[in-house]
Amino acid sequence: MLADGKSQPPKPSFVSRVLGVLIKAAVLLGFLFVFDKLLPSISEQTQSFVVAKWQQLSLLQQELPTENSLPSPLPEKNLTDTWGAARSQGRSHEGIDIFAERGTPIQSTTQGIVSKVGENNLGGRVVVVVGPGGAGHYYAHLEDYADIAPNDWVNQGDIIGYVGDSGNAKGTPPHVHYGIYINGSAVNPYPLLQKD
Ligand SMILES: [Zn+2]
Repeated sequence: MLADGKSQPPKPSFVSRVLGVLIKAAVLLGFLFVFDKLLPSISEQTQSFVVAKWQQLSLLQQELPTENSLPSPLPEKNLTDTWGAARSQGRSHEGIDIFAERGTPIQSTTQGIVSKVGENNLGGRVVVVVGPGGAGHYYAHLEDYADIAPNDWVNQGDIIGYVGDSGNAKGTPPHVHYGIYINGSAVNPYPLLQKD
């Protein structure tokens, strides 16, 4: 027996086929446009996020600074151990002061990730770099910052700012206050700095 009950579906007309192709092409072009505009920025963001995380992890795995291991933030200047000296309101000095002419470039003592570029009451203009072992390196009383921003990577010796007298050092001889914080506690930077 012949399957005579089955009838062919009506063939779409030429116009509707052309219209269908055109709509598909338009949708495809739309997708291509969106991918072209969106993908590069997504991958760039993902890339810098992954790089930042990798840098943080590798920093944490590195050794904390040891004795005489760090170059001075002001390599040409005399170092004096002023850790623990009395300060106003019963505070004691949680760092060392290194004196230099106003505007002298301050070098990062370590590689690391910039975590703060901004002001506070005591320190004035300050920069914080998180370095090997997660130690925080605090540079205060700056005249000005170098061209850096939070989450930037710095290498040892990179300029992070310039000597000044901002914050509670206003009117005193220009110097950088350098502090090191390990697990949130201040430690004396003096023994860790290279002396020669
Ligand atoms: Zn100080």
